Formats: sequence, C-alpha cells, structure tokens
Amino acid sequence: MIYKNNYCVLNTMHSKAEAIAEPFLKNLGIKVVEQKGDTDHLGTFSGEVERPGTLWEVLKRKCEIGLDLSGLTLGIASEGSFGPHPLIPFLPCDFEALIFMDREKDFFLYETLISEKTNYKFEDMEDEIEFFNFAKVIKFPSHGVIIRPLEWDDESIIFKGIRTFKEFRDSFKICQTSSARKTVRVETDMRAHMNPTRMMVIRELAEKLSARITSQCPKCRMPGWGKVRIIKGLECIQCGTPTEKIKEEIFGCVKCSFEQSLQKGEWVGPENCHYCNP
Ligand SMILES: [Zn+2]
Ligand SMILES: [Zn+2]
Repeated sequence: MIYKNNYCVLNTMHSKAEAIAEPFLKNLGIKVVEQKGDTDHLGTFSGEVERPGTLWEVLKRKCEIGLDLSGLTLGIASEGSFGPHPLIPFLPCDFEALIFMDREKDFFLYETLISEKTNYKFEDMEDEIEFFNFAKVIKFPSHGVIIRPLEWDDESIIFKGIRTFKEFRDSFKICQTSSARKTVRVETDMRAHMNPTRMMVIRELAEKLSARITSQCPKCRMPGWGKVRIIKGLECIQCGTPTEKIKEEIFGCVKCSFEQSLQKGEWVGPENCHYCNP
C-alpha cells in the first residue's frame, strides 16, 4: 500500500469521515482524521453565503484550509450540489465531488459522481399539515429539514437540522409569523450528517477515488493513474461515418505527461450511425 499508516486530514464540519474513512483505510492504508476548519465563508448549502468561484476552487480551498490547520501533507475535501439531472431534467440528483491532495508528492486528484439516489426536495407550505406527506417522501426524521419564511427578508430566521415533529412545529410557527404571505419554505437538509442518503453517495465516491489512487503511473510510479478523457467517433461499419460512440479512452498521470490510449473497438453497427439510421 502506497500510503500505509499515513494520516490524511478531512476538512469537514459534518462528520463526513463516516463515509470516507473506511474506503481510504481499506484501499490505501490511510487513516483519515477530521478537522473542523471554518469553511462557512466559502459558502453553505442553505444559501446564506453566495458561493464564490467554481465548485473546484471551493473544493481546493477547503482542502488547503484543512492541510494548513493540521500541518499534514495529505488532505481530502468533499463538496456536493443538488438539482435537476443534466440529462433527465425532471429527475433530482446529487452531484458529488471529492478531492485528494498530496503536498509532498505535489499533486491533487479529484473524482465526481452524479447520483439519482437523493431525497433533494423543497416545498412552500401555508399549513403545517402539508408537511406530513413531504416528511414521508423525504424520509423524515432520519433525514433532516431546513425551514425558513418564504420571502426571507431577515436571513437570521432559519432553522436547520430539524429532526423531530416538535422542532418542526415550533420553527414552522416562527417562520409563518414572520412571513408576509404566511408561507414557509421547507427543504431537505442536504448536509451529510443530516442526510444518510447523501452519506451513502459520498461513500460510493470515496471508493471510486481511493481505488484510483491505488493505481500508479507506469512511467513515474505516481499514484492516481486513471482515465483523463475520452475520444468519440467510432466509425460505422457500413459507410465509415464517425458516430457518437467512444473510440478511445485516454489514461494519464497526475504528474508527468505520460499517456496511454485504450481502443474501444474497430467499428459500430449502422444502427448507431446518423447517416445510415437517421
Ligand atoms: Zn453509416
Ligand atoms: Zn507519471
């Protein structure tokens, strides 16, 4: 194991080691330790702080804060966002990203995962009775919710991590009173420690990333060797027109410029061809 008995810092406020520690220990021998580095200024899920920069910048920054605070040379950070599936717009999905940084070997590597396994949902309610159906669908109370007045003029009025019906009723009343339209926005709390479904998806991604770190560059032996891009355009056997099917997968190194190409076959049938099968 490349990293046997090494410590790695996971910068998280939301107990994500629960999902990440085991795959990293099993696949790499890495011991994950949590660091509660303040990353609220980088943006949070409930929307109080506008997220600066891209997801990748936030992820890198979060990981670097953990590394700086702990003084360790290995770091992990995780980010997720939720919304419609890129290909199936009516299907909510969880987009997860995980970064691994090694300051000694001087590289970083990230993996992503789009999963339709999510309870992501929000609804505007005028009566607390409307919550019962919502609660069933999103698996409350094992999964938490966030409640705020619909208009949200006063951003201090927000209740997060609600996991009992009593807490729900109490905060619902406060939010409704301070809403001009007497309407309350109820949404799933997507923070990992409030959302076992999301925790499962993060674990799936941690498996994927840690497995990738185990594979080394054939040339320089650096960890993290893996697929870096694909080339489409496998040709139609009947007319020779390039199709949308993948022709080559390119594997590359995180550090040196060495690459290898994996051919995905010689041709495809005419049923995949725009010309033969318009
Ligand atoms: Zn063709
Ligand atoms: Zn290399």
